[in-house]
Amino acid sequence: MDDCIFCRIVSGEAPSWKVYETETTYAFLDIHPASRYHALVIPKQHYTSMFDIPETVLQDVITTVKRVCKLYEEKLGIRDIQVISNSGAQAQQEVFHLHFHIVPRTYGDGQQLRWHTHPEWTRDFDAMLSKLHKD
Ligand code: AMP
Ligand code: ZN
Repeated sequence: MDDCIFCRIVSGEAPSWKVYETETTYAFLDIHPASRYHALVIPKQHYTSMFDIPETVLQDVITTVKRVCKLYEEKLGIRDIQVISNSGAQAQQEVFHLHFHIVPRTYGDGQQLRWHTHPEWTRDFDAMLSKLHKD
């Protein structure tokens, strides 16, 4: 995937700031950080999103997410972290190589991740689930 910036990072053609690495995954600092130590965790092989990544590779990625969180806790005393992954353009995915954001949070950091919620939609739950579960 020559035109994929994250593949170019894995191959060393593009620069990056390594946080952690395994045989199959790579963690590096996001160049538009929302907070100090905002990192991205990716599989070294190219997969676009949740929809095409094999479960075994995703397991490796999640294991690395966990290890980076523990590294941050042990070395930096970080205890508040948001883990976010976007799949699809309408879900705010901009780089189409699967990644998890690891965003450490601190009191008063000025960031805010809030959804506009629809509690009234609970009345549709039964109809929604019947669609999901029908053969
Ligand atoms: P998303 O909206 O989930 O696809 O986020 C993509 C993330 O990749 C953004 O937070 C970007 O700042 C980050 N990003 C894009 N290019 C690079 C790069 N060359 N090195 C590090 N992070 C990058
Ligand atoms: Zn890629």
